[in-house]
Amino acid sequence: MKAALAQFIFESNTFAPALAEIDLFRKGGVFLEAEAQVRAWATGTDSQMHGSLKVLAAAGWEAAPCFTALCGSPAGRLSAACFREISDTLLDRVAAAMPFDVLILHLHGAAAADGEDDPEGYLLEKVRTDLGYRGRVVLSLDLHANFTRRMLQHADAVTAYRTFPHMDFTATGERAAHLALHSGSFTRAAAKVSVLMPPTNSTHFAGHLCDLLTRARELERRHENVLDVCILPVQPWMDIDEMGSSVVVTATGDGVPLDELQKLADEWYAQRHHWRSRLTPWPEILQKLRRKGPEPWVLADTADATSGGSPGHSAEALRRLLPLREELPGKVLLWVVDPGTVAAARRRATHFTTGDPPVSWEGRVIWTGEGNYKTRGGAYTGQTFSMGEAAVVESGQIQLVACSYPALTPDPAFYECVGLQPDAALAVMAKNMTGWMAAFDAPWERGLLFDGPGACTLDFASIPFTGSGCGLWPVDPNPANPIAIWESDAAGSSQ
Ligand SMILES: [Zn+2]
Repeated sequence: MKAALAQFIFESNTFAPALAEIDLFRKGGVFLEAEAQVRAWATGTDSQMHGSLKVLAAAGWEAAPCFTALCGSPAGRLSAACFREISDTLLDRVAAAMPFDVLILHLHGAAAADGEDDPEGYLLEKVRTDLGYRGRVVLSLDLHANFTRRMLQHADAVTAYRTFPHMDFTATGERAAHLALHSGSFTRAAAKVSVLMPPTNSTHFAGHLCDLLTRARELERRHENVLDVCILPVQPWMDIDEMGSSVVVTATGDGVPLDELQKLADEWYAQRHHWRSRLTPWPEILQKLRRKGPEPWVLADTADATSGGSPGHSAEALRRLLPLREELPGKVLLWVVDPGTVAAARRRATHFTTGDPPVSWEGRVIWTGEGNYKTRGGAYTGQTFSMGEAAVVESGQIQLVACSYPALTPDPAFYECVGLQPDAALAVMAKNMTGWMAAFDAPWERGLLFDGPGACTLDFASIPFTGSGCGLWPVDPNPANPIAIWESDAAGSSQ
């Protein structure tokens, strides 16, 4: 028996202004189409494909890992040319791997392209229509996927991450491969839930999302025909068709217990009034920064989260803290994506105009160079990232890192690689929602989350949706259709 595998991971924020081009993958990420290279990449990383290959090998299956495209950080929509290059290459490589018994696609589910709101659904459809493949397709998704009717129609079985911050890439790939190996036929059903859930209120280890994940595991245990239950709180910053959170159930050919699916969706919808963004007002943040604890505060600029596709240009914290720069009881480590400030620092300027909207300030350059780091915290542990050309400018207790690229993750190594000491600081900045907790091993109590300029506001009611997002709570305080149940047409392929 033989499986073909392809992985394409990209997350779009359609409110981020710039289109993503192919260099984000070819130069700033991963773009591999030779089987030996794809296999070497997969086996050397904590990835979905890695997990699938392990399980397939243990089962004695032949595997053809035929394509991988990854981008290190989310961004706006893919340009039409970029998406065409990715989709044409993926489909060509899958066609070249034929014949096979199962296709395993590791996709994100929250990509968007210029002119295509559902790139993952498009790829699944093309596998069926253009390649004429009628066999089993197993789909793995990110927890923040926007599940669509095309995904329901063309994938036979679906699984997704069960962690946020995400840390179960390999385990998700293992689950996908076990679905591939399953000996019977499948049915699927999904509940679209008309809610946007704050990422800052949806970790897997405690709270409301944790409760839903626990219920999903119970359902898998209780119903022997239920094989996988995905809980998908959608990435909120996408102005696209069929937008919404989803519960996706894959069951044996005996059928999905729709009453259980409905109950889980009802439970999710009923939670909504209890969700909190965890944003802290600035007067309270400034008050807390007057006391230095044994470990640093984490200033989380959630609205400009590069992990959510925002460009990282906001200097809101610099603007707020400059008046206090001499009085703060320790170093405050900030960062902003601003090539202009990097260039000025390389000229040894002392006056800077930083960020968008701009902040004018005086400072002393204490470091310039290329910012490369290997994460040492609990998020993306051991992976290598680059912030490009960078500089550190100091003013009083403020040490600001300006860099060229929106680096994906907060991590102590981010600051250490430019000569700073995050562990000894009063506060460190992360342009991130929850990953800072794993990266800095910090509980919620050490986080000071604030909303400013950026493409990832947590004030959901203010997101300028024009399409289906308008019908989601809390954009619409009373959604007309809170829960919609979708069923697959018929039992899918068996083997
Ligand atoms: Zn995600």
